[in-house]
Amino acid sequence: MSTTSDRIIKYNPATLELVGELNRTSPDDISLIIQDAKMAQAEWIARPLKERIGILKRLQKHVVLNVDNIVRVICEETGKPRVEAMNADIMSALSATMYSIEMMPSLFQPKNISFGKLSPMMKYLGRRSYIQPRPLGVIVIISPWNYPYGIPFSQAVMAIAAGNSVVLKPSSATPFSGLEVQNAFVTAGVPEHLIQVVLGSGGSVGNALTSSAIDRIIFTGSTEVGKKIMADAANRLTPVTMELGGKDPMIVMADADLHRAAEAAAWGCYVNAGQTCACIKRIYVHDEVYNLFLDLFRDNVSRIKLGYGLNDPEIGMGPLIDEDAVDEMKVHVSRAVEQGGKILFGGQYLEVKGYFFEPTAIIDLPHSSDIVQKEIFGPIVTIHKFQSVEEAISMANDSVYALSGSVWTSDLAMGKMIAERLTGGTINVNNVGYTYGLASTPWGGRGDSGFGHTHGIEGFSELLESHHVHVDRGKFSRELWWHPYGRENLELSHGLLNMIFGGQYSRTMTLLPRMRRWLKGR
Ligand code: NDP
Repeated sequence: MSTTSDRIIKYNPATLELVGELNRTSPDDISLIIQDAKMAQAEWIARPLKERIGILKRLQKHVVLNVDNIVRVICEETGKPRVEAMNADIMSALSATMYSIEMMPSLFQPKNISFGKLSPMMKYLGRRSYIQPRPLGVIVIISPWNYPYGIPFSQAVMAIAAGNSVVLKPSSATPFSGLEVQNAFVTAGVPEHLIQVVLGSGGSVGNALTSSAIDRIIFTGSTEVGKKIMADAANRLTPVTMELGGKDPMIVMADADLHRAAEAAAWGCYVNAGQTCACIKRIYVHDEVYNLFLDLFRDNVSRIKLGYGLNDPEIGMGPLIDEDAVDEMKVHVSRAVEQGGKILFGGQYLEVKGYFFEPTAIIDLPHSSDIVQKEIFGPIVTIHKFQSVEEAISMANDSVYALSGSVWTSDLAMGKMIAERLTGGTINVNNVGYTYGLASTPWGGRGDSGFGHTHGIEGFSELLESHHVHVDRGKFSRELWWHPYGRENLELSHGLLNMIFGGQYSRTMTLLPRMRRWLKGR
């Protein structure tokens, strides 16, 4: 693969030290990369299922045995604490691999289709339908920098388990993690080019990929870029899966275990320095427990240590990804104050080496203010009071985003009722965010959070074509709706319609011998 002279130069956002340099892929190389991916996919699906499963088992083993090295690469690129790289990136990669291995034997099984009430008739006619699942072909994965290993790995392993090949474009902010994903598959023994990584900006190689003849795009990133990619994909009618932004609500009922809820909030708001699509961004607390919850929340957050957590296990929060992100947080905080918000804690940039911004909570903001409505990709949460369940649900649903959310209560029936009424792809009762790491459960949002699914059987169904095969044993020589048309087949068609859909069995039974004669062509 040739490269342009352009280089990606990557610095650690926690230490500002150089991580390394890499060549960008030239957009001119994309068509060859796609051709190679098509050939590799054909080779992969031709291999026996047992062999493919064996390779994914080796993949799982590779990640487990090399976890320290992979975690180091992730931490160096993102600055996140080691425990977060382990618990989020690595766990979600391994969970998706294990789930894929378990699902592979059943993924390609033909599935009979029931004709419902028409079944006895179809049996008499000697006909059946079944679905033969088939891989789609080449899947392009475009991923963000926040979980630079877990997100593309879990999507790639499911795509490959479903018999596809993968072209991955990691964020230019985290190219080394993208290469680690590829390295794991190659080491496990997948065919050459089954997974290829292209490096460079979305505007150049990303755009060249989305305009190519590929079979699906799985995009994870901002809503704005998602819309652009979807417009590009429309030119070739390429199907897309859109995993976009979020503004997750957390509802704390008066009867909640407030200690657990406050600890959960301290993690759920500030994990990955708030740079998580499914971070808690809006907390709604029942009036009766509002002040107590604020005290417990503040207390838990005050114990989070900021710093570079590669080698210090007590660091609880890393830096933002770059200087622009810090500047954005400063603007959000000053706008929040302008709009009537009060800073409960945080709000400051730390004047140390690295892009550290304090965990921040803002209260008393009008719900319509842009700080409450827009996605803020950093450690800022807004907190609101409610009096009634209806008010909590209505405020939580007052967002263009609908990715995930949570409700906290000791009344599980109430929790489920609220969960079922909240918008969003995943709503937790008494937990937050972690189901991304449970690969058997679906992941996906609605509204400005996107559509489609990764993970779960719903995710697999987007990676496979439901190929329908209909088999007629040929017992009869013609059909009622074939030529030549005439009075006879018109009457018989009408009679059949009355019999099947009008329930007029006795009146139309007399037509059966005529129908049989017609079908036999005599
Ligand atoms: P971006 O949307 O900026 O970028 C995502 C990816 O798209 C990057 O690889 C980027 O490349 C690429 N890209 C940008 N423009 C184009 C283009 N025109 N054509 C093709 N590819 C393009 O998101 P971030 O990386 O900043 O990630 C943060 C966002 O991701 C947040 O909004 C967050 O909510 C969302 N997200 C959603 C998740 C979900 O599951 N719903 C999970 C995680 C994050 P490059 O940057 O190299 O130019």
